[in-house]
Formats: sequence, C-alpha cells, structure tokens
Amino acid sequence: MWKINVKDIIKEKRKIIEETYTIDEIELHTGTYKVLDDGFKVKMIVTYADNKILLGGYARGYVERPCDRCLKLSKMYIDGTIEAVYTFEKKYTRKSEELKDLSNEILITGDMIDLEERIIEGIVSSTPDVFVCSPDCKGLCPHCGADLNEEPDHKCSYEEEITEVPDPRFEKLLKIKHIQEG
Ligand SMILES: [Zn+2]
Ligand SMILES: [Zn+2]
Repeated sequence: MWKINVKDIIKEKRKIIEETYTIDEIELHTGTYKVLDDGFKVKMIVTYADNKILLGGYARGYVERPCDRCLKLSKMYIDGTIEAVYTFEKKYTRKSEELKDLSNEILITGDMIDLEERIIEGIVSSTPDVFVCSPDCKGLCPHCGADLNEEPDHKCSYEEEITEVPDPRFEKLLKIKHIQEG
C-alpha cells in the first residue's frame, strides 16, 4: 500500500496520498510504544519535477509512553514531518559534494519507492528524547518512589528516618569539636 510506482508518478506529475498508517506498536530510539487510535494519519504530496521526485507531508498520531518523571503511561502526540527528495542519478564533482548530497537525496534503485520508510523516519525524527506527562508533573519521591502527583503533601518517612538517626561518625566529630572549643 505504501509503495508507489516511479513510472506512475512521472506520468501523473503529482499525487496526493491520504491514509491511515496502520500499526499496533512502533519502535523508536527511546523505546517501543503502543500506537493508539489504530495508527497515524498520513498525508503526503508526491511531485515529479526537474527529474526528481519530491515528497512532503506529515504522519500524526498518539502513542502510549511512560513519563520520564513519574513513569506513568501517558498519551504522547507525535507530529512527524515527512520530507524527501529522490533522484535518478548521482553525479559528483567533488568528494565534499558527495557527502552533502548523501544526507539529502535518496537514489532511486528500482521501479518502486517505499513510502513506509519515510513515514517511520518522520515519526522517529519528531519524537523527543525526553517526555513528560504534563509540564508540571511533580515526579516521584527520590527516597521512596511515591508518586508526588497523587500525594502532593507527601512527607517521606524514609527521609525522616535519615534525619532522626544521626550518623555515629558525625556524633563523634561533634564531641571532638565541643572538647576543642572547651
Ligand atoms: Zn509524569
Ligand atoms: Zn517518599
């Protein structure tokens, strides 16, 4: 479904694709997530011009991802930008041009172009490294792991224990200090 025929595009000059990219789970650089609402809404405009095939559009959808502060599974919106240029041949005059060119353009090697690769690429590049369920997520208590969103007045008993029982080495130091000060 996501493969398009190069000859068709050359003939048609322009093609608009609007479909749902159906997927249950997606593997991203930050983890593998469950995809909500059956997939991503995709809109792509494929244009043939100047002996190149240009691709532009988006893939939008929601995944279930754990919050990096409180670890709770939350809904994350991804607005993936799809952008690509396909060429039929590559001509280089200098090595530096070749390197520059490689990052931007994709060489067409067969009769078909696989758009699925570009959809995934767009989703991956629009996924943030850090995700929080809400900008004011309070996270977890660093001592006991209690969710501070659910317990805003959390008084950690573990923290109290630490302050109530002083380090015996510290007590000794205090005594030494007292003796020295007279
Ligand atoms: Zn959170
Ligand atoms: Zn705590």
